[in-house]
Amino acid sequence: MKRREFVRTAGLASLALPVIGCGSSWPRKGRRPNIVFIMADDHASQAIGCYGSRLNRTPGIDRIAREGVRFDSCFCTNGICAPSRAVILTGKHSHLNGVRDNAVAFDGTQMTFPKILREAGYETALLGKWHLKSDPTGFDRWTILPGQGDYYNPDLIEMGTRARHNGYVTDILTDMASDFLEARRGGGKPFLLMLHHKAPHRNWQPAERHLHLYDGVEFPEPPTLFDDYETRSGAAFEQEMTIRDHMTLDSDLKLGPPPARMDEAQRDAWEKAYGPKRADFERAALDGEALVRWKYRRYLQDYLGSIAAVDESVDRVLDVLDATGLADDTLVVYTSDQGFFLGEHGWFDKRFMYEEALRMPLVIRWPGRVRPGSINEDMVSNLDFAPTFLDVAGLGKPGEMQGRSFRPLLEGRRPGGWPESVYYHYYEYPAVHMAKRHYGVRTRRHKLIHFYHDIDAWELYDLEKDPLELRNVYGDPAYAGVRRALEAELRRLQAFYRDSDELARRLAEEDTAR
Ligand code: CA
Repeated sequence: MKRREFVRTAGLASLALPVIGCGSSWPRKGRRPNIVFIMADDHASQAIGCYGSRLNRTPGIDRIAREGVRFDSCFCTNGICAPSRAVILTGKHSHLNGVRDNAVAFDGTQMTFPKILREAGYETALLGKWHLKSDPTGFDRWTILPGQGDYYNPDLIEMGTRARHNGYVTDILTDMASDFLEARRGGGKPFLLMLHHKAPHRNWQPAERHLHLYDGVEFPEPPTLFDDYETRSGAAFEQEMTIRDHMTLDSDLKLGPPPARMDEAQRDAWEKAYGPKRADFERAALDGEALVRWKYRRYLQDYLGSIAAVDESVDRVLDVLDATGLADDTLVVYTSDQGFFLGEHGWFDKRFMYEEALRMPLVIRWPGRVRPGSINEDMVSNLDFAPTFLDVAGLGKPGEMQGRSFRPLLEGRRPGGWPESVYYHYYEYPAVHMAKRHYGVRTRRHKLIHFYHDIDAWELYDLEKDPLELRNVYGDPAYAGVRRALEAELRRLQAFYRDSDELARRLAEEDTAR
């Protein structure tokens, strides 16, 4: 029997006998790997060193890429927080897992990969941002932030009990993760640890020690900071997510009072950091492009400042894995629930199917399996995470999961017929930022998007000739053939994933009535 088949069979056997743990008696050689899944919130790959960031350094995250694999074509299927999380847990698209937007509660009775791992003998733990409204299911232990949570002195809900914790959220969660790993020194059951950071979600509050990290730094501006949306559909003109008009001075850019939950020492540090910035701003009396540039710089100082602690967290988790002897038996993932606009098209936030938001950073270390320093360009998505983690544990996926395991890619093998396209569907409209409902397909070279509901508009991009997505060629006769092929691929994917225009229309009506 091949080793992989053996592991798969053994895994299924334990599914039938969940009481008998495979823990310490499991031969080390064939031991099922632990999984440490670290996910940030809104961390764009433009702000990660190993993805070529021109803005910041991230030695902790880069360490995973250096010792593992960096995926360069990982995409999300619905680019906002709660929906991406539900896709990751279930391996199903939003219209089937029910979490189409940030307003609905996750139905925790449905199948998720942590549940399956737990039934198969894994210990499962969740720490940090959950954001799915219903209580987590499928975890032996969970400690979550209520909703978005707070950066400073946050409340945390531990298995239903809410309490305030003093300190900075990223550090508190890292301490908990570290304690969890320390307690597993010497082995035991294989485990899944999901560490979900709140950072760098809006409104981007850096840790005290990082409040001055980017003082005086001038960041390179994206070439599309002053995009005029020429050739684009009404969706680009009618959104409300520009740095110029929709980023708030008081909260987003910290010209207002310090966060209410801060203690006196934290408030003092905050004032020292933001007081002078406020004074500069008032003195300068900026407007027009100069004001946009000032806001862009202030935005990045805080966005990148709040990433600094996340990167330290990754580094610390890796150190603890080393110190506890767990590293060799542990697959470590770093990702973000989706990307983010860092001034591209004049925007912040995500939602749109354009590259900066669509892309998910994904780096994975798996000693002995993943070749260190490898780069993978095959198309994968968050839909594939659940089947992959199950496969890594030697388990098959339930038929209802729509993703595909990319474990072979981790091990340096590319199965025939690997997908060459990704399907996307965004629903949260009308809502904050007013990004219109749209679905679309991205292939290696092209992207086709259909905005619908209170608009009926198509966009087509040639990503090779137009990587910044500035020229919509949907109506260009030269692209008629490409357009037809993409439309056919889009309809094929909709049928494959059991989505349709008719369903989209019905769900829009349901959402509007809600
Ligand atoms: Ca997010």
